[in-house]
Amino acid sequence: MNTTKYIFVTGGVSSSLGKGIIAASLAKLLQARGYRVTIQKLDPYINVDPGTLNPYEHGECYVTDDGAETDLDLGHYERFLNVTTSQANNVTTGRIYQSVIEKERRGEFLGKTVQVIPHITNEIKERVQLLGDTGDYDIIITEIGGTVGDIESLPYIEAVRQLKWELGDDNVLVIHLTLIPYLKAAGELKTKPTQHSVKTLMESGIKADILVCRTEHHLSDDLRRKLALFCNVQQEDVIESIDASTIYDVPNLMLEEKLDTITLKKLKLSDVTTPDLEQWNNFLERHKNPKNEVHIGLIGKYVELQDSYKSILESFIHAGAENEVKVKVTSIHSEYINKDNIAEKLSGLHGVLVAPGFGERGIEGKIEAVRYARENNLPYLGICLGMQMAVIEYARNILGLEGANSSEMNPETPYPVIDLMDEQKSITNKGGTMRLGAWKCDLKEDSIVGKVYKTKTIEERHRHRYEFNDQYREQLEVAGLKATGINPDTGLVEIIEIPSHPWFVGVQYHPEYKSTVAGPHPLFVAFVAAAFKHSENK
Ligand code: GLN
Repeated sequence: MNTTKYIFVTGGVSSSLGKGIIAASLAKLLQARGYRVTIQKLDPYINVDPGTLNPYEHGECYVTDDGAETDLDLGHYERFLNVTTSQANNVTTGRIYQSVIEKERRGEFLGKTVQVIPHITNEIKERVQLLGDTGDYDIIITEIGGTVGDIESLPYIEAVRQLKWELGDDNVLVIHLTLIPYLKAAGELKTKPTQHSVKTLMESGIKADILVCRTEHHLSDDLRRKLALFCNVQQEDVIESIDASTIYDVPNLMLEEKLDTITLKKLKLSDVTTPDLEQWNNFLERHKNPKNEVHIGLIGKYVELQDSYKSILESFIHAGAENEVKVKVTSIHSEYINKDNIAEKLSGLHGVLVAPGFGERGIEGKIEAVRYARENNLPYLGICLGMQMAVIEYARNILGLEGANSSEMNPETPYPVIDLMDEQKSITNKGGTMRLGAWKCDLKEDSIVGKVYKTKTIEERHRHRYEFNDQYREQLEVAGLKATGINPDTGLVEIIEIPSHPWFVGVQYHPEYKSTVAGPHPLFVAFVAAAFKHSENK
């Protein structure tokens, strides 16, 4: 018999309450008690995946080992749990419909009229149970994107109702995350919006089992009692989620509020073990008590929206804690960088990271930032587009190949040092067609990366179309830019370094997707260490 338990996290009153962090924190606590847990995100939009979304729309696109382009919440899940996720962990309405329509075309519905209920809801239920059926997990936490009452979420809410009915209250739990706003003029926390959102959920036939209340002020016993009475839960099922200074505090805050014990009790699971959070708390201790500070410039074109570079910023937090330094990241918009202001823009920084990106906008500023870092011995980490910019800069300014570029930015460039692979040339569809997911890379022994990773072969995640053009490799290597990581199957260059520079590394892949609290990424750890060294030598 399948004994997997399912927890659903819904949102009420407002978006951006941090369902992903609550889900990840609960998962952390359950994992710390020895349960095998994974998290899934259901997104009610019609894109098949977020891969085609502009970062301004939805923040960063997070890539898994199996090459799924997913919601950034999956990044939180991996960072908190240190467990890898996959395509099955993120499902959108677009994907659900795509799959149902494909089944209809294959004739699988045997002449039936295909409808939201039961066909779409069945597909949703199947996707939820897919992870449970692997037998790899005791508990699946499924976060439902959006806010209850949204037209788009209705089929998901209905699927939850059906699953609860089919599997029973002991096996399915609904946690409703809601907002308790503070009205300054009245000097009071207000429960009415929550009452309404719980009622909306009830209209769809779902009773919230646990209320997690986002609030700027502590909830009094009176207020908890009131919420319990009007929202039809026990008082102990009202959980306070007070604003925290860091997301990494949330598991401990949820522990204090007993979210894990109440969850286990309701799911009839044993709660005799106590959560082992030693490693987590060690990290928090180091994160909160840094001995020094380093300043890193993050050069990108989506810097107005912090979520665009979520995994990079989180990787710096992990690497900072590992080095016992506070990493202060200054975001610098690449469109506003030029030859004349570069020294001023990068002054006071101890390291430069040029971010991933697509399209021409802002690339000349990025190339200028590379040049400055290279000429001033400033530690440099280029990620994906940031690696490509480093190659272009070297070709232009050291090899003297004027107009060298990526054929993405200038298809007519006389020197396409970054170019499309042949396989990519015939592809016209944009969705899901890049080089995606984990690929192997062999490291050169006497290189920075060889020392940093302490292994010969690595696997890192990719998301790009263009590649280092091998025709220029020899020329660049002779001039001092070395290829130090090579894909063993394709021979493609994955990593470049400048050995005459104190710390200059460009990687075609995205190390930031694999940094977690339990496993800070070695490349970020080494980069922060190099930046710290630079700050001391100054
Ligand atoms: N635009 C570049 C490419 O497609 C880099 C992509 C990225 O930085 N993720 O190759």
